[in-house]
Amino acid sequence: MNKIKKTEAEWRAELSPEQYHVLREKGTERPFSGEYDDTFEPGSYRCAGCGTELFSSEAKYDSGCGWPAFYAPASGEAIDEETDATFGMIRTEVMCAACGGHLGHVFPDGPAPTGQRYCINSAALKLEEE
Ligand code: FE
Repeated sequence: MNKIKKTEAEWRAELSPEQYHVLREKGTERPFSGEYDDTFEPGSYRCAGCGTELFSSEAKYDSGCGWPAFYAPASGEAIDEETDATFGMIRTEVMCAACGGHLGHVFPDGPAPTGQRYCINSAALKLEEE
């Protein structure tokens, strides 16, 4: 269950239009367009909606897919996963467990040690550099 509850009007007031579209409307930014696609500075990636730590730069890798990719979340509790059957595909949606914001999807074609690729929209993240 989400710990952070806000009205859509509150989210709209707090987030940029791009952040709102991704986090609250399950939007997807265009590939190779996001702020963090090509970023490999050390730090933690927090939810752009609520600030919860979601991913560490240590798990970030260059997947070539055009969105930030991580092989694991910062912790199992940080994210929720749910089956997404929209657009004629069966995918696994990834959400911030604290605010319910849409982050992206996870695919089973990632590198070792997990074999997972968390394909995440830059607009859903805020990098806190070390
Ligand atoms: Fe969040």
